[in-house]
Amino acid sequence: MSKPIQITSAPGSSKSYKTGSWRTNKPIFKHDTCNDCRICVLVCPDACIFGSDKVYDANLDFCKGCGICAYECPVDDIEMVLEVK
Ligand code: SF4
Ligand code: SF4
Repeated sequence: MSKPIQITSAPGSSKSYKTGSWRTNKPIFKHDTCNDCRICVLVCPDACIFGSDKVYDANLDFCKGCGICAYECPVDDIEMVLEVK
């Protein structure tokens, strides 16, 4: 028997879930060698990187610390560090 299609009754509810609490590492945007390519903005699976004009940061309420932004940054301007709580 197939499963029923799951439909949320309240679209947009993901903003209520602060997924950043799952994190063990966090990105540090060094604002040093950024070339404004915006690759980090495009690859972040949580769409939580914001900024412009070579100054980007992550919204740590939602960043899960996956490290993809740091891995993909072509100029190593993002460093992953251990989260200290
Ligand atoms: S990927 Fe790196 S160089 Fe590109 S915008 Fe982000 S921080 Fe800047
Ligand atoms: S570590 Fe992952 S979730 Fe956090 S800002 Fe970078 S790409 Fe997004």
